[in-house]
Amino acid sequence: MMRRFSFLNGFISFLIALPIGVWWLYPSVVRCMLIAYSGEFRAVPGGYVSHQTPARQQKALLRHDQQACDRIRQFWGEKQGRAILIYCHTADQYADYCGNGSSESAGCSLATPWGDSFLVLGQEGNNPDVIAHERCHDELQTRVGWWRTNRQIPQWFNEGLALMVDYRFTNPHADAHQRARDFRDGWEYRAYGRQMALSLEDIATMRGFFGGDYHHVMLAYYTGAVEVSKWLVRAGPGGPADLAKRVGEGEKFEEVYGPSLRE
Ligand SMILES: [Zn+2]
Repeated sequence: MMRRFSFLNGFISFLIALPIGVWWLYPSVVRCMLIAYSGEFRAVPGGYVSHQTPARQQKALLRHDQQACDRIRQFWGEKQGRAILIYCHTADQYADYCGNGSSESAGCSLATPWGDSFLVLGQEGNNPDVIAHERCHDELQTRVGWWRTNRQIPQWFNEGLALMVDYRFTNPHADAHQRARDFRDGWEYRAYGRQMALSLEDIATMRGFFGGDYHHVMLAYYTGAVEVSKWLVRAGPGGPADLAKRVGEGEKFEEVYGPSLRE
């Protein structure tokens, strides 16, 4: 899951209408930015946890985040993203900090044009897969930049890439070839023997990717993951960092990425 509050008209109204306008437009982003002043959370290394969080849960969270950060370093070569982690205890807190329509997800990341980013987790997000997934969004967005991520990076790539460090869908010990095959099998199963395929264009935008029922969104994840896992076989382990650097410097995503690999 990823939320980016957008776009140009939002940014312009923000310039005119600060601070009441920005609160109205993006209350969850503002809440994240002011979390240090919230009485409901306490500071921990790397972020904030709800006061209601039991000590054992908090310990597990820090351990899971460590594992997630290790995956990011391994996948990207180094970790540049510095998202502030916000761990919510109640569904209400999670909805406040993650934004509307977030009740079905376990975690989300929010990024701002001025470079702050936040990783909001609900209780179900207290595991290394969800955290690594969200940190991968943050890593891409940090390297490419907020504006170019919004303009250039298709959602299928962003989500597909996040699934490379999120082992809920594949075997963590699989090599690149095996992972591509595993995603392909999962995709075929969900596409009911290819009767219901989605095209990459269908899921290039946030709305196209997440705008549908559970089956649509799962198929969208698999479609992105099939494409990205194949691309990784071709591009090699340095592919993501290289792509992020070049797109961040102004090259077009399509030109760096090359032709799509799905038949
Ligand atoms: Zn995601």
